[in-house]
Formats: sequence, C-alpha cells, structure tokens
Amino acid sequence: MLRNRLFFFLSLLASGALLSFFAVKSKATVQMPATLSSAFQLLGKPIKTIDRSLTKLLPINDLDEKRLGDSIALRYESYSDPTNPDQIYLKNLVDNLSAGNSKNFEYRVFIMDTSSPNAFAMPGGVLFVTKGLLSMVKSEAELAAILGHEIGHVELSHCMDGVRGELLSRKIGAASLGEFADIAVGLFIKPSFGKNQEDEADQYGYELLRREKYDPYAMGRTFRRLKEATGSGEGTLSPIEEYFMTHPYLEHRSEKFTEMAKKEEEGSYYLGAKNLNERSSRYEHEYEEEFVKR
Ligand SMILES: [Zn+2]
Repeated sequence: MLRNRLFFFLSLLASGALLSFFAVKSKATVQMPATLSSAFQLLGKPIKTIDRSLTKLLPINDLDEKRLGDSIALRYESYSDPTNPDQIYLKNLVDNLSAGNSKNFEYRVFIMDTSSPNAFAMPGGVLFVTKGLLSMVKSEAELAAILGHEIGHVELSHCMDGVRGELLSRKIGAASLGEFADIAVGLFIKPSFGKNQEDEADQYGYELLRREKYDPYAMGRTFRRLKEATGSGEGTLSPIEEYFMTHPYLEHRSEKFTEMAKKEEEGSYYLGAKNLNERSSRYEHEYEEEFVKR
C-alpha cells in the first residue's frame, strides 16, 4: 500500500517535471490540452501563473471556504468547456442536488479526461468527475449517488477540515490565497479522508437520493459497478485508480446500501437512464417510464 502510494507521488512528480520541461523547451504558455496526463490535470495550474491579485497575505483564521474554492476553481477553468453537453448536464444536476446546501457558495464541477471512474471534492464545493465515471453509470440516480457522496464531503466540512489540519500541522499562520489553494490542491490529490468521513459521506449521498426520490438501490449498484471497474489488479493501477481506491470497501458498501434500500417504504422512485443518455437532467424533464415501483 505504501509502495503504491510512493509510486503515485513519483508518477505525479515525473509527469509534472516532464511537462514543465516541455513548457520551458517550447515556450508553451499555460494553456494545456485536456488530453495531457491526467495526473497533471489533477494538479491544475499553479494559481500564481494566472492571477497575481491573489498574492495578498491572509491569516489562516480569515481563510474563507468560498474564496478558497474560487481560487481552486481558477486553476481548472481553462480545462472546462461551458458549452460541452456533459458539462452543462453535470452543472445542472449538481446545482439541483446541492440546492438545499448549508454553505454560502455555489458548487462548481469539472470534468477530467480520464477513463478511470472517479470523482472527488475540494473545499468551496469544487467537484471533479472523470469521463470514465460518466460512462460507467447507467442512470442519473447512480450519478446522483456519487455526486451526493462528494457533496457530502463538502457539506460535512471534511474538505475544509482537511485543509485547516494540514495548514496547522505545517505551522502556516498566514499565506496568500493562491498559496492556500496550492496547498489545498496538493492535499486533495492524495488520499485524505478517513473511514468515518467516507461513511458519513456515503450516508449523506444516500439521504440525498431518498430526499430527491431517486431509486435508493442506485447507491449499492454504483459501488458494485465501481468495484467491477477498478477490479483487483493491485500493482497495475494508474495513479487515478490508486486515488480512487481510497474510497474504501466497495463490496461492503454495496451490500450495506442494498440492504438499506430493501427497507425503504414502497413507492415510486426515479431512475433517469434516459436523462443520463440525453444529458438532460430530471430537473429539466421527467419521463413517466423512468419511475419504478420499489
Ligand atoms: Zn469519499
């Protein structure tokens, strides 16, 4: 496990170093094509290369999650195409799923051009979804299960707590917003949540499915698909898959949430396979045939 983690960091460092080398050699600017190494995409672009107005020194106590999220999002905006149907769909879904959120910010979602199914969250409601995840799920309910889990990490302050904890352990009392964002991104490309936090995020995602009347079986089914997709090929995992494996115990989670779904009241629940196919969320258009009796 440790060796794998070391491999993960070395891969990241290697890809970063290689890319910086090319950037210098070819005098390339900051615009990176989305097909570049996914590990590099995870890092995004250092904030200082984009916006020099974020260099003002800020005490850690004044670090506001919304502003931190804004500066993290800045790193990734050049990878995002607001006219892409996947992007529009995800944004609409996330806006609706996070509508009752307790934080003072709007969620952002970015798509990563990576075939491994994966999703993760950063402070300030900055979510990432891979193309692999979009093609793995078979209904909007399944996608909502994953998004709900990630929204849970933000709403339950796991993301912000992680950053604060890291800043304190590094004895960083003050830094610029850009530096805070650099640290936060560096932190979230490596495994950072404990088992309790994962359980809490699962529960949050499940409650979100219930609240929105999505098929409650979607949670268990999604974990099963993830388990099958990531397989058991330890040692052959890409860095992204390695990251993903920090979402623990997929088999156990699948069984747990399938059992919970069995105990739900009988009723009509939404699947949204057609919505997913058409990249048009249920909040835009509900189809009669997508309601199933459970
Ligand atoms: Zn998680």
